[in-house]
Amino acid sequence: MDQADGARIMDGAAAARRSLESTSLRAAVVSRKLGRRPCLAAVLVGDDPSSVTYVRMKQRRCESVGIDSRIIRLAHSSLTSEVVATIRALSDDKRVDGILLQHPVPDHVDERAAFEAIAPAKDVDGVTMHSFAAMAFGLPGFWSCTPAGIMRLLDVYGVDPCGLHAVVIGRSPILGKPIGMLLLAKSATVTYCHSYSRGLPEIVGSADIVVAAVGKANFVRGEWLKRGSVVIDAGYSSGDTGDVAFEEARGVAALITPVPGGVGPMTIAMLLEQTTLAAERSAS
Ligand code: NAP
Repeated sequence: MDQADGARIMDGAAAARRSLESTSLRAAVVSRKLGRRPCLAAVLVGDDPSSVTYVRMKQRRCESVGIDSRIIRLAHSSLTSEVVATIRALSDDKRVDGILLQHPVPDHVDERAAFEAIAPAKDVDGVTMHSFAAMAFGLPGFWSCTPAGIMRLLDVYGVDPCGLHAVVIGRSPILGKPIGMLLLAKSATVTYCHSYSRGLPEIVGSADIVVAAVGKANFVRGEWLKRGSVVIDAGYSSGDTGDVAFEEARGVAALITPVPGGVGPMTIAMLLEQTTLAAERSAS
């Protein structure tokens, strides 16, 4: 385990590798039962270079664990109705276990309508209202992958959120909101911060757990943090930079995720775990 000055590094790459090893074994077992490999279908609308890279990365990871992947590329000019029809067809396709709509879609496409075309049983990226409600109510369903990866990392490093003050900076539907709900379900006291929050440094200074999900490089400063806190950096900006000023924060925090190699690898690992779980459910 890496040990930085003060802070222990939460090695998401290593935790993800362990998850992928276990997923690979499970995928092999369910492949025998189904007579085919689990299958993840990724829908990509347009040709945004980062989105193309993300989808290819996920495809490579699928191959490495014995999951088939299908990439469905739609033109940037596709209408909402065309995206919805494509996703509905995948929802009805018995050979597809999980569906991923690469975010973001072009502005003229109604992303929520497209997400809601994903059958809940195939929502392995945890983006539908059904999955959101399942996370909020603690019911069976798929979790958003980045929050799922964060909860796994906390578990791997023995952080029990019960009774701790968790401050989540960001309130997006796939990251900020659900991670707060999952921490609440573990009996943390949760504070959400967003672009209208006042006195952010003071609020962050009272946190035992900080989850940064903003998308602004080096936004959270080391001097804001409480000594001994757990710092989860979910942000990613160009140049492999997270939301937390890492060098400052590592001297104050007890545990910290690096960027890259922290939350990012866990997100893909959770996607593949949930795809395998979807296949296992359809096999039984
Ligand atoms: P998003 O939808 O743009 O949400 C950003 C959030 O940050 C919003 O809630 C916004 O508040 C808040 N915010 C913006 N400026 C702020 C400020 N000055 N003070 C406090 N809060 C502020 O982004 P997202 O999709 O959640 O993604 C956030 C980051 O996580 C990005 O860097 C993204 O690349 C990264 N990410 C990483 C993974 C992964 O696998 N590692 C997965 C998903 C996302 P308002 O709501 O008030 O606008």
